[in-house]
Amino acid sequence: MSNYSFRYASDLGGGVYAVDTGFVRAQFDASYIVTQRAPSSERIAVIDTGTNYSVPRILATLFDLDCSPEQVDFIILTHVHLDHAGGAGMLMQACPNAKLVVHPRGAKHMIDPTQLRAGAVGVYGEQTVEKDYGTLLPIQKSRVIEASDGMMINLAGRMLTCIDTPGHAKHHITIWDQMTYGAFTGDTFGLSYREFDTEKGAFIIPTTTPIQFDPHALRISLKRIMALKPDCIYPTHFSKVTGVPRLYQKLTDMLTQVEDLGKSLATAEQRHKLLKNGLLNLYIQELRDHGCMLSDSKIEQLLSTDIELNAQGMGVWLG
Ligand SMILES: [Zn+2]
Repeated sequence: MSNYSFRYASDLGGGVYAVDTGFVRAQFDASYIVTQRAPSSERIAVIDTGTNYSVPRILATLFDLDCSPEQVDFIILTHVHLDHAGGAGMLMQACPNAKLVVHPRGAKHMIDPTQLRAGAVGVYGEQTVEKDYGTLLPIQKSRVIEASDGMMINLAGRMLTCIDTPGHAKHHITIWDQMTYGAFTGDTFGLSYREFDTEKGAFIIPTTTPIQFDPHALRISLKRIMALKPDCIYPTHFSKVTGVPRLYQKLTDMLTQVEDLGKSLATAEQRHKLLKNGLLNLYIQELRDHGCMLSDSKIEQLLSTDIELNAQGMGVWLG
């Protein structure tokens, strides 16, 4: 562990740092900084960027690490949802030597973000999108690397492998870090808020958000991640979790319950409302099993955004 002092980040060991992007609330949305010592200077990869409003926090963390934006060689996106990729254009402007690494299906949306922003406006409305995300900046095509499955990124000798992991989104990659035996899983390996930690460890739930949730593809992706025998997972929401086999068991078990819930309500009237109720009840029951002592209303408050989006995504999946 280092002796750096951070304003927005925590040291996760192995040259990995989690920047709290500040999106939505504290400890909700992470951007990861991976560092690797090289003969002349430390070289850096940033994995996920948060939004435009997160970029100053990432730059402040580079400063706190005694590093400059010029040392950033790669900005890697797990996928192009805006809480992961909204700040990519702005961060690329600040980091003149960086290449952007993104799934082939996401590349065009980073080169010309018009469609991406229009999609968000369709879901959230113009005012909210402006407030939460601002203006998405385009990225020069010549600076974009499309991450094919198995592609290795060489960060000054530290090998980061891109793995195609659909299920949450078709434009999703997971980044495998051989050095820490850790996987940067974006939203593929669920989300895990630190408020729900108990003596049993971390709590995890699958994300079923719109519009490409595909449980079958997700299961295959999770198996591919587990085949690497990870020591830890770095989900975007939020920070590092260990005890991976238990988390995988929980995640797939809850995925089955979510699928069953969806199928049981497929043709119900007021389906969206019932899905939301069903998800809330499932999460509360699982959290009680996990030993969580927070009140029902606190749990509902922490998960309200996820419940809404997960129910929407299930609606799209159910058709
Ligand atoms: Zn996402």
